Amino acid sequence: MSHQRIDELQRAARSGRYAIPHLLGGTTDLVVGQLRAAEHRKSPVAFGFAPEVLPMIPLETALPLMITAAERASVPVATQLEHTDDFDTIMRAIRLGVSSVMFDGSHLSYEENVAGTAEVVRAANGAGVAVEAELGAVGGSAVRTQAPIDSLLTDPDVVVDFVARTGVHSLAVSFGNAHGAYAALPELDYDRVRKICSLVDIPIVMHGGSGLTAEQYRQSIESGISDIHCYSAIAARLWDRLDRQRQSPEDRPPYHEIAGHTIDFFCESALEIVDMFGSGGRAVTNRE
Ligand SMILES: [Zn+2]
Repeated sequence: MSHQRIDELQRAARSGRYAIPHLLGGTTDLVVGQLRAAEHRKSPVAFGFAPEVLPMIPLETALPLMITAAERASVPVATQLEHTDDFDTIMRAIRLGVSSVMFDGSHLSYEENVAGTAEVVRAANGAGVAVEAELGAVGGSAVRTQAPIDSLLTDPDVVVDFVARTGVHSLAVSFGNAHGAYAALPELDYDRVRKICSLVDIPIVMHGGSGLTAEQYRQSIESGISDIHCYSAIAARLWDRLDRQRQSPEDRPPYHEIAGHTIDFFCESALEIVDMFGSGGRAVTNRE
């Protein structure tokens, strides 16, 4: 079994000074292409599914696809339901067999975030499922291009209290990062990450990670980030790739050919990510 909890992969990444490529799952093209890259590079990988996609793809279709791929993979794969504060959706995901969930209380008051996270941790612990929370707010949206950013930097002064009172297994932080494609390169506050990592020993996660420079990834990992979410900047390049595959504007290939090109595209982009995050060759499972 190569399906693992996300905090297990993140802890290994932290001690090995690399980052887990946290990639969007939920469709066949994404999962097949990106897993092919991870297996080719012998890299651990995480597949996330966000409720923002639920109007298009049902949870009961997306998660079993990701979980089956994880169980059959030759590398460690974590699966995660991301960004929801809906307890019922989280419980549906746990019943479907996901290895990790994220309770996103970043839009709630601090006390409401503590209470909601702690409730999910209690439920998830009974099922052996890892929980990630968000403190501060990583603004923007991975799927809505016009979403406001409205981020709130993570306050290191409350991190110890939050982790102690919730028992959460890993934490998404806000240090200049945002979801969606960046209009300009963000200023990342690495000292904030270093401070947070010095205060708690749970893994620290970066959302809104695509479209940055190799140096920004290196410094993020160096300051203590062990998991980086990537989607928007990658997906934005897909149209160019598909256009290049066509022989002429009149060329209208059948869908399975388009899917083949899409799978190849997501494989190639995941190879680049693995190489930038230093996760290649780190695929060691407990079961080997
Ligand atoms: Zn996110």
